[in-house]
Amino acid sequence: MSEKIEGIAASAGIAIAKTFILRNPDLSFERGTVDDVAAEKAKFNDALEVSKKELNAIKETAEKELGADKAEVFAAHLMFLSDPEFVGAITSKIEQEKLNAASALHDVSTFFIQTFESMSDNAYMRERAADVRDVSKRLLAHVLGVSFTSPASITEETVIIAEDLTPSDTAQLNRKYVKGFATNIGGRTSHSAIMSRSMEIPAVVGTQTIMDQAKDGELAIVDGLTGLVILNPSAEEVAEYKSKAAAYKEQQEEWKKLVHETTKTSDEAHVILGANIGNPGDVTGVVNNGGEAVGLYRTEFLYMGRDKLPTEDEQFDAYKEVLEKMEGKPVVIRTLDIGGDKKLKYLPLPEEMNPFLGFRAIRLCLERQDIFRTQLRALLRASVFGKLRIMFPMIATINELREAKKILFEEKDKLVAAGTEVSDDLQVGMMMEIPAAAVEADRFAKEADFFSIGTNDLIQYTMAADRMNQHVSYLYQPCNPAILRLVSKIIDAAHAEGHWAGMCGEMAGDATAIPLLLALGLDEFSMSATSILPARSQLLKLSKAELAKHKETFLNMDTAEEVLDYVKTQMI
Ligand code: PEP
Ligand code: MG
Repeated sequence: MSEKIEGIAASAGIAIAKTFILRNPDLSFERGTVDDVAAEKAKFNDALEVSKKELNAIKETAEKELGADKAEVFAAHLMFLSDPEFVGAITSKIEQEKLNAASALHDVSTFFIQTFESMSDNAYMRERAADVRDVSKRLLAHVLGVSFTSPASITEETVIIAEDLTPSDTAQLNRKYVKGFATNIGGRTSHSAIMSRSMEIPAVVGTQTIMDQAKDGELAIVDGLTGLVILNPSAEEVAEYKSKAAAYKEQQEEWKKLVHETTKTSDEAHVILGANIGNPGDVTGVVNNGGEAVGLYRTEFLYMGRDKLPTEDEQFDAYKEVLEKMEGKPVVIRTLDIGGDKKLKYLPLPEEMNPFLGFRAIRLCLERQDIFRTQLRALLRASVFGKLRIMFPMIATINELREAKKILFEEKDKLVAAGTEVSDDLQVGMMMEIPAAAVEADRFAKEADFFSIGTNDLIQYTMAADRMNQHVSYLYQPCNPAILRLVSKIIDAAHAEGHWAGMCGEMAGDATAIPLLLALGLDEFSMSATSILPARSQLLKLSKAELAKHKETFLNMDTAEEVLDYVKTQMI
């Protein structure tokens, strides 16, 4: 009998192969002290050196196989191994407490992991905890002299089953043999999921139970399109999924042909398909997937995972790199959106009852003008290297927009007076993610050059439903008529002033929402890079003029369910 297990679809595609269960090595050890401190330190240093050597080799392979940006995680691991705070703390525990190396390593890594994990509402910091866990495991194995089962040793077609895949496990996967993987834990933003997407290996994560259910060497199907794993499938199921896999492959080949196309609907309307990025390295993926713009660069990532604020020059280099790599295509760079769930350890903010409604983003920048002005100067200096659009997050009032613009233009005037060149093709726009601003979009449109609709927040604020709270997730409805009316109002307001309106919230890449957004006249859709080609393929077949005829009908529906049903039956 086949067994079906549901998880989260992390990387699209279908894999059918025998399972290879990746078990964690036995890293148990006795806690204790040693007499010969020097010998214990030497043992630890040897393990450190072997780990560094291995990581350098993995990093090199990853650079070749995955690209420099995806190899950065191994540079981060190597950095931990050279970080005096991390390594020094272990050595001094061996020296001062005479702890054996394994115990000292365990104590220090646990401290680091717990510190990162205590920032529990911050996905980025949780990933840093995963990095420390990954690198410490390697180090501990070498301290104990235990060998790893390396995924690199796989030499026949397999589907890997694991508790979780660490970034170094993922980077060692040989695409020739590893057809897919399924894990117990992880979500769409975990490292293994991100890497599986860029390696284009079908993956299902977060199944919770697959490690208990799978047997080594049995046949398995991983459906990364829907998030389903079938263990020990029947002959009919294998046949069904073989034809699904073939159809998907064919579709991918079709998508690839669209890389250099501009995005035109069947009635020749041009919309821009852009990508959301978190760091300059992500631009490679944007270009490879035929992105026509960077629709959102979340600059807060530049401020994270470090001890102090990035300097003006560090920021300038990052912005310049993105603008240059995009070769004159539009790049929307959002000013710092910190606060809420995104915290900086070196910038303590007061504890808040409702951090998402608190002291964050533009609110913080208008108060901490030192931080804001530094970023604005870096942006203005970089503006001559491409087509820069500066965007302010979380604007609620006209006064905030005016104040932010005033500060920007003061910095511009100062730079120009000092002889620094600043682009004269600079647009200054704002995120539309607060209902108050959406309601008054016509007034904002007189003072902003463009709008980018941040539906991730706009939906949570409009529906009063926390975007991270599962109990109210039923209210998180992109296609609720209330949201669609706000989106429509924002787009119309921009157009009335001759401006463009884009969307950088997750809704922009949702295949069901795309026809609605096209009908409402959205000019720019910004999404994760790998969604661009499927979206382009969909848009080529849609007629903007025909869909626009449905606008009044769906805006006047009662429920999100009605809208969804209508799109699927009448508009796709
Ligand atoms: C949004 O709110 O839709 C958005 C794009 O910004 P973030 O997800 O960074 O809050
Ligand atoms: Mg937002």
